[in-house]
Amino acid sequence: MLTSIATVSISGTLDAKLAAIAASGFCGAEIFENDLLTTHLGAREVATLMRDLGLACTMFQPFRDLEGLPAPARGRAFDRLERKFDVMGELGTDLLLLCSSCAPQADGDRARILADLAEAADRAGRRGLRIGYEALAWGRHVNDHRDAWALVRDVDHDALGLVLDSFHSLARRIPAGSIGDIRPDKLFLVQVCDAPQLDMDYLGWSRHFRCMPGQGDFPLDAWAEAIRRIGYTGYWSLEIFNDRFRAGSAAAVARDGYRALRLLESGIVEGASSTPVLPARIAPLGVSFIEFAASTAEAEALAAMLRPLGFRPTARHRSKDVTRWTQGAINLVVNCEPEGLAHSFDVVHGASVCAIGLTVADVPAVLARAEALAIPRFTQAIAADEWPIPSLTGVGGSLLYLVDAASEPAMWAHEFPQAIEDSAPGALTVVDHIAQTMQFEEFLSWLLYYVALFDLAKTPQLDIADPMGLVHSQAVETRDKKLRFTLNGSLARQSLSSRFIQNYFGAGVQHIAFACPDIFAAADAAIAAGLPRLEIPRNYYDDIAARWGLDDALVEALAARDILYDRDGEAEYFQFYSRAFARRVFFELVERRGYQAYGATNAPIRLAAQARHRPVLID
Ligand code: MG
Ligand code: MG
Repeated sequence: MLTSIATVSISGTLDAKLAAIAASGFCGAEIFENDLLTTHLGAREVATLMRDLGLACTMFQPFRDLEGLPAPARGRAFDRLERKFDVMGELGTDLLLLCSSCAPQADGDRARILADLAEAADRAGRRGLRIGYEALAWGRHVNDHRDAWALVRDVDHDALGLVLDSFHSLARRIPAGSIGDIRPDKLFLVQVCDAPQLDMDYLGWSRHFRCMPGQGDFPLDAWAEAIRRIGYTGYWSLEIFNDRFRAGSAAAVARDGYRALRLLESGIVEGASSTPVLPARIAPLGVSFIEFAASTAEAEALAAMLRPLGFRPTARHRSKDVTRWTQGAINLVVNCEPEGLAHSFDVVHGASVCAIGLTVADVPAVLARAEALAIPRFTQAIAADEWPIPSLTGVGGSLLYLVDAASEPAMWAHEFPQAIEDSAPGALTVVDHIAQTMQFEEFLSWLLYYVALFDLAKTPQLDIADPMGLVHSQAVETRDKKLRFTLNGSLARQSLSSRFIQNYFGAGVQHIAFACPDIFAAADAAIAAGLPRLEIPRNYYDDIAARWGLDDALVEALAARDILYDRDGEAEYFQFYSRAFARRVFFELVERRGYQAYGATNAPIRLAAQARHRPVLID
């Protein structure tokens, strides 16, 4: 795939953008006119810089409001076009993007539009240049790629072709089948973006909510596959307008963009069953372990929460100050080593989750895919007799270990040979989900990380009301639901999510939910053993009784234990929360009776209950 990105997609000055684009591995870049107008570099210097960086200039864009104008506006538009042709000569690109007109005075008469496009093509052709015509979703008379294609086809001039942009086609839900009519030699460029499914005006949606392929809801694979099928071999160019990306790091957004195009490419090629461009995307089998970094004192405080939850310290590491806590199929590892990554993590963040181990059937395949997606591998020195577990850099600098399913029992036996206590017959069985909190600007980046690396599906994005602001929340999960992450990002400085990030100095695990078959027994055992629990107001129980028509005995049983309740049809969900450990991480116990979501309606109740335990920040 020939990869390109429009400079408007990322933050910074034009020279910094181009450097970040080149460093991420793109073959080319579209120069967005505003970036050229605001740079201190002349167009020829931009061309030289791009050549030095090894980037092709794939297009100059945009040119607006040309066709259908009355005189004298028409003459002025064509004069303006000639001036832009001059700039293109200096920039070293032969392709200009022409957007369908939005001018109020533009005539929709088809013969006039054809004549204007033909004249523009003539003028471009005389100078060895080309024009790519794009139907904006909000174009005044032309707003559908089928109409734009019919015009290009009927003008039938070598210098006039079509630019397809996934936003304009998919926002209008134009069937991908219509792409089959387009001649590949007339498709001059393909622009790609994803977007969340929103019910709003096309212009605002496009200008603020475009995102990278894989981060939104558009059916991009089928759209891109239709383009591949006609035999298109040109550039696939990202064109993303997004306020978050403009506020983010140019290098990180360019890296995500490259990763997203590789993901799109692999989706097309997988569909076409030819040679895969990326190693296959596999689904992890589940959570092998969760590792906490802690000082010795913090480890004691953590133990005081783990014991009432039914965990027991069952083994010590062969050579390190690391303890394995178990219950059911759950493994928690508490690392008190005075050096290494866990220790640095504890110093920076305080006691917290520094690593997550995922069980996978094919570790080399995941590593190869990570490498192709430019996801960095983490390596640190290990002792000669230590079990090597490959790891990748994950959220907030934590690690994602890849544990080989076949040798997992052998790994535990080797690494933790010294028994401490027997496992207790606890109420908890497996890790249900892991909640990670991050800066709003990083949210889409981590979402892409998970869906690009693994075969994980994403749930629709939700906005959850925090007492101090809104929190975006979205889950990624395997189809069998054995691995679930919920991702949370907040813009509001005082929201609990943001305060977590401030307290924690970065993104990380905010809570861990354990599954149990009997929430009442699990809550009773935890309460009896002295677990500090989150208290839920009585008003909440009056409300759910009325909302769901629950019988009094059930409502009393929930209220007595501070258990939250949600329902989806006949499916039921029960949630019980601990107070936060070290003001950062808390634990959740859940029982699912056919329910597959995460109790979003209860999140504001939980957040408000947690906020009561926090001092108000005064700035
Ligand atoms: Mg476009
Ligand atoms: Mg949860």
